[in-house]
Amino acid sequence: MSGNEFEPVAIARRGLMLVLSSPSGAGKTTISRALLADDDGLTMSISATTRRPRPAEAHGRDYYFVDPEEFGLMINRRELLEHAKVFDHYYGTPREPVEQALSDGRDVLFDIDWQGTQQLKQQAREDLVSIFILPPSTLELERRLTQRAQDPADVVARRMSKAADEISHWAEYDYVLVNEDVGRCLAQVKAILTAERLKRERQPGLLDFVKALREGY
Ligand code: 5GP
Repeated sequence: MSGNEFEPVAIARRGLMLVLSSPSGAGKTTISRALLADDDGLTMSISATTRRPRPAEAHGRDYYFVDPEEFGLMINRRELLEHAKVFDHYYGTPREPVEQALSDGRDVLFDIDWQGTQQLKQQAREDLVSIFILPPSTLELERRLTQRAQDPADVVARRMSKAADEISHWAEYDYVLVNEDVGRCLAQVKAILTAERLKRERQPGLLDFVKALREGY
């Protein structure tokens, strides 16, 4: 050792909040899953909802499925970081697991709508990074929603009409992607996450590290 070399410094950092929003069927769930499978530093925020589970969904993994009364209690106890009515049901983000993960330095991924994103923004969270995913076309969106076939036809039709409404909020997001190809879109989300993690203000230990580096010369 010349004395000019440094052990890597364990940099204490607070995690960031990565929000993915899109109309239903734009590919957000696929992208979230792939992102989580590939990234140990990322934790999914599991929302609470009053809607019924779909066949493949599990309580505590996809959502916490609660009744409207319990949801109301969660609001009153201030246990939700944000909440909104989407379609006919309530959805909300449990506060405690998110705060815990962030203070442990883990990044948290949110699959929430524009209303929830606005609420998080209003809380002036500087650790928020928001991405909006657009479908390549209305026709493709309809095809994906129909193909999914998890919801009855009238629900699909209503989701289509809601899509335009959701899309109208695209400009409120930091990043906007068009999901033409899921692999490419995933790579773009990863690139955003990597760049955001490297932002100077997200590396609080950097000052000491650079100081030590300079003193070594
Ligand atoms: P789905 O019923 O298809 O799982 O979700 C419907 C919509 O609710 C999606 O756009 C999803 O992003 C949104 N959503 C899911 N969880 C939450 C949440 O905790 N808060 C908010 N504001 N929206 C959510």
